[in-house]
Amino acid sequence: TRQLVKIYQNGSEELKVLDDVNIKVSNSDFIAILGPSGSGKSTLMNILGCLDIPTSGQYYLDGLDVLKASDNELAEIRNKKIGFIFQKFNLLPKLTAVQNVMLPLLYRGVKEEEAWETAREKLSILGLEARLHHRPNELSGGQQQRVAIARAIVGTPQLLLADEPTGNLDSKSSGDAMEIFKELNRQGNTIVIITHDIEVAEQVRKIFYIRDGKIHENG
Ligand code: ATP
Ligand code: MG
Repeated sequence: TRQLVKIYQNGSEELKVLDDVNIKVSNSDFIAILGPSGSGKSTLMNILGCLDIPTSGQYYLDGLDVLKASDNELAEIRNKKIGFIFQKFNLLPKLTAVQNVMLPLLYRGVKEEEAWETAREKLSILGLEARLHHRPNELSGGQQQRVAIARAIVGTPQLLLADEPTGNLDSKSSGDAMEIFKELNRQGNTIVIITHDIEVAEQVRKIFYIRDGKIHENG
């Protein structure tokens, strides 16, 4: 990113959440973003995931100028390159766990049977073998979070963006999730993780800290 600024406008009130944010994430990086509640972490993550646009500044992803990209190019990036774990999970309520996890594969044209098998395998690694056919509202918060993790990693995304992916997990499930992220990273994929969890932050390669709209490395 270059000189990212994000201003939210609520009526006549302006809130500058990101103020000249410059970060460079290299291929195969494993990065954590820390900062107090309300400091703009999710806002930055949404911009990195091409789900929101900054008020000003630039963002290049794999050499592509994201803010000048066409809708098709953006859809292509979101479907093929990025895995996103939302802070609030964003699972589709009418689909079962396994159907939610299959979605990214179906978007990419993987055949139904193969998608089902791969999704089942990921859910089982995350300890949800017995919850494949439950809908999100029939799952606990931590189980929903694990479904969201499975959905984000099922297609081995080149860039995984994870917004507090372990916030609802006990320490064992959290450790299991970190092992999955590390394995993805060992395969050469890039991971950016927002976290409040010191144990998680201790395991990454580089830490950014956001405060008052500014970002600092290893702060
Ligand atoms: P948390 O740790 O609590 O998840 P965060 O660092 O992710 O916090 P953001 O969600 O990025 O914080 O929000 C940053 C600030 O911007 C907050 O003050 C929030 O109220 C405000 N904000 C976020 N989204 C919007 C929006 N769509 N419209 C107006 N203000 C917003
Ligand atoms: Mg947030």
